[in-house]
Amino acid sequence: MKITTILSLFLSLALVSGCATSGVNRGDVNLVSLSEEWQMGQQFEQQLAKDLKLVNDRATVAYVSRIGQQLVSQTELRNQPWEFHVVADPAINAFNIPGGHVYVNTGLLAAVDNAAELAGVMAHEIAHGVSRHGTERLTKAYGLNIGAGLLLGQDPSTTQKILAQLVGGGALAKFSRSDERESDELGVLYMYRAGYDPEGMATMFEKLLSQRKSRPSAVQSFFSSHPLTESRIAAVRAEARQLPPKRGLTTRDGELASVQSRVGRYNR
Ligand SMILES: [Zn+2]
Repeated sequence: MKITTILSLFLSLALVSGCATSGVNRGDVNLVSLSEEWQMGQQFEQQLAKDLKLVNDRATVAYVSRIGQQLVSQTELRNQPWEFHVVADPAINAFNIPGGHVYVNTGLLAAVDNAAELAGVMAHEIAHGVSRHGTERLTKAYGLNIGAGLLLGQDPSTTQKILAQLVGGGALAKFSRSDERESDELGVLYMYRAGYDPEGMATMFEKLLSQRKSRPSAVQSFFSSHPLTESRIAAVRAEARQLPPKRGLTTRDGELASVQSRVGRYNR
């Protein structure tokens, strides 16, 4: 087949499947339907439960989940089930995998100065999920081969390979600049609507940039998947300041400090 034939086949298939976007992203082709993505997420989640050291401390998971669900309730995919996980890992990082799963490292919990900074990173990850950047990447990588076998985990070695990339910051996990911009923009909105001061996203990003100079190994995994620049931070701040003033936006809460002391032992 000629390239153009393949391309038009690809595009028509995308049209037939309704492009399967959530409607908020800028429309990269996504051949994975929403229900397929959530199914895929379940398989990934089960595998990650074996591969990662997850924190089971109830108060910690409840705290992270509460912030996460509050943010999710302001998104276009609020009717899908979302789940939040805490990983015992001192690296300052959080990541999302397809199907509404967001992972927050204990290193991130320790590094934030307030709840709004934590909400900032989480809102950004949730926005990647809502924009379905993960399955867009998969569509790009696998094209029409992203059939039932891959989606339904009948090919465990591929599932493993994808997961290793997503979690390890491989090519599949590398978001483009426009993906990052989109997630920042949406994330700021979700924070604002959920009642968190979006300035928290900017101050946390500044912290990540300065850590890159002083403790590069602690933020390596974050930077391997999220290109972060001064200009991105400036754009986040500008967007936050353009929003109409709103009373009572949360910066600090009364719980973060106790959560930080509970997870301290995982970061040693
Ligand atoms: Zn990102």
